[in-house]
Amino acid sequence: MKAETPFVVVEHLAKHYRGPGGWRGAGRLLRAVDDVSFTLAPGESVGLLGESGSGKTTLGRLLLKLTEPTAGSITIAGQSLAGLRGQPLKAFRRQAQLIFQNPFDALNPRFTIGRCLREPLLNAGLPRAEQGPLIERALALARFTRGLELLDQHPHQLSGGQLQRVVIARALILQPRFVVADEPVSMLDVSVRAGILNLLRGVSRALGLTAVYISHDLSLVRYLCSRTLVLYRGALVEDAPTKALCNAPRHPYSQALVAAVPSSDPAQRRLPLPLVASTAEAPVGSGCRFAARCPLVMPICRTEEPPLVAVAPNHRVACHLGLPAA
Ligand code: SF4
Repeated sequence: MKAETPFVVVEHLAKHYRGPGGWRGAGRLLRAVDDVSFTLAPGESVGLLGESGSGKTTLGRLLLKLTEPTAGSITIAGQSLAGLRGQPLKAFRRQAQLIFQNPFDALNPRFTIGRCLREPLLNAGLPRAEQGPLIERALALARFTRGLELLDQHPHQLSGGQLQRVVIARALILQPRFVVADEPVSMLDVSVRAGILNLLRGVSRALGLTAVYISHDLSLVRYLCSRTLVLYRGALVEDAPTKALCNAPRHPYSQALVAAVPSSDPAQRRLPLPLVASTAEAPVGSGCRFAARCPLVMPICRTEEPPLVAVAPNHRVACHLGLPAA
């Protein structure tokens, strides 16, 4: 069977920042994203999972060309993002959209909802005659049954759930093929989260979107994504089908993330690995970057960084314990 051509190809991607320097000179090098490689199939929904500071938001911004990489490459729909500017960049911006985390900040409070929705269409230079049908379509996709009645209202007149649906409508209005959603429900009340997740799953499937969901919440990723990439201190430590990750995580960090999710099913409950409480992280490049917190650390972990290797079909892990037997 012929392998499907990937929609997104990320190769050896890195984004490094130099921290503020003191009187001694240059500051510490922060490796927000460090040598990350993966591909996404067309229409695939993938979760980027990790704690704060793991690099997932930086990776999302790199995928949308909102920041430039220090090294490596990204190709989306056969087009390299390197050096993209002018008309090709404008065309890429139409195809790749961000769903913001905080709907209360994402919309200009002085604009009506109609103006908020019209803005991306104006920026794309679409004639007025084409704007109305696109606004109607986007509101219908975001499941507003009487969406046109909202157009004269202002953001403060809507609930958090309605605002997030407007943000989703705005992201979909230019009919993108690729979407990055950054913690799309973390600012919402628990009561409306399920509805928004349902909506995101529905539109992703209906439109065949290739989607990346950034989250620290495994239950969100489990609901929306067929595959999950786990990041730790800028590096990809596990890449697995979400089901396999939830049922049998291989990396000790993934095991800790999975065990931290409460389950009503006693058979699914796991004892969390007792992570070592350490603030003294080892410098990157001197062994496994999880070694300071890993309860299973071995001498080799302190000297050799484990490569990301396949341990099963479609399942890669960066851990000396996960390496297949020689
Ligand atoms: Fe733990 Fe060693 Fe695996 Fe790193 S390589 S996660 S320190 S066992």
